[in-house]
Amino acid sequence: SKDQGGNRITFFSTEMNEQAMTRLELESYLRKALKKNEFYLMFQPLIDLETGKIFGSEALIRWNHPKLGLVSPADFIPLAEETGIIQEIGRWVLKTACIQNKKWQSLGNDYLSVAVNVSAYQFQQPGFLKEVKQALAESKLDPQYLTLELTESTMLTNIDYSIRVMRSLQNLGVNVSIDDFGTGYSSLSYLKDLPINTLKIDRSFINNLRVDTYDIAIVKAIITMGHGLEVKVVAEGVETKEQIELLKELNCHYAQGYYIHKPLPATDFEKGLEQTVNI
Ligand code: C2E
Ligand code: CA
Ligand code: CA
Ligand code: CA
Repeated sequence: SKDQGGNRITFFSTEMNEQAMTRLELESYLRKALKKNEFYLMFQPLIDLETGKIFGSEALIRWNHPKLGLVSPADFIPLAEETGIIQEIGRWVLKTACIQNKKWQSLGNDYLSVAVNVSAYQFQQPGFLKEVKQALAESKLDPQYLTLELTESTMLTNIDYSIRVMRSLQNLGVNVSIDDFGTGYSSLSYLKDLPINTLKIDRSFINNLRVDTYDIAIVKAIITMGHGLEVKVVAEGVETKEQIELLKELNCHYAQGYYIHKPLPATDFEKGLEQTVNI
């Protein structure tokens, strides 16, 4: 978050030290981070609510800087977007996630899939489609096991162009997902025109699911709509057993959240692949 005082940025690293520096300092660290190998991916399981089996994961980037410690994506992704550095980072994430997933498939998890977050800046670049093709070619991952998560605002900026790119992605065989669904401004009338495979219900609706009857009504409506549009529905931010039970009752397809598992380093995710989560 930005300081009131101008261009100083403050944030907390995992060690909970308050870090203050100029935007330029942070930007210069960020520019070097890829070459210095400071990024890595965590993988958070998505489970199939019908079987309790791991269906795939969402790849989530982490930045471990020698001086700053672990910097949260919420703190550096916005800066990476503003400066365009996200393009290179995004390319790295895509490629690394595809390679990792392919490796897990070759260990016997044939149907495992991976979801990758795509920033608005990255998506709007003319070379984006080519980057996706390159990541698939380099990893030899079958496109049906890759999902790209886009937010509503990414899709709705330059909507005709976005629809064309999304169609091309689907023509490649890649899945397109709307991330944080319900928090953006997409009107329902857009929804039928958007070439999407998955709706990911924002965790703000899932958080209060037990107590808040309005949230229950909204989640129920989104799931019903998802069934009607023949897209898969994922609930993110599932933190309690009650929430999982309600989501099963509502016939939600997939769930992700701390109750099931926090994001894991690749090696730990791999160890957990054989398990069925007891839901
Ligand atoms: P997101 O795409 O909505 O990702 C889900 C975030 O929710 C992750 O935070 C995840 O750790 C967190 N989460 C998962 N389950 C729960 C839960 O049960 N409760 C709560 N409270 N939180 C949960 P994370 O990893 O800090 O990422 C934050 C955001 O940063 C992501 O939100 C995404 O917008 C962005 N991001 C992360 N990795 C990438 C990336 O590789 N590329 C881009 N462009 N953005 C990324
Ligand atoms: Ca996401
Ligand atoms: Ca999300
Ligand atoms: Ca979010």
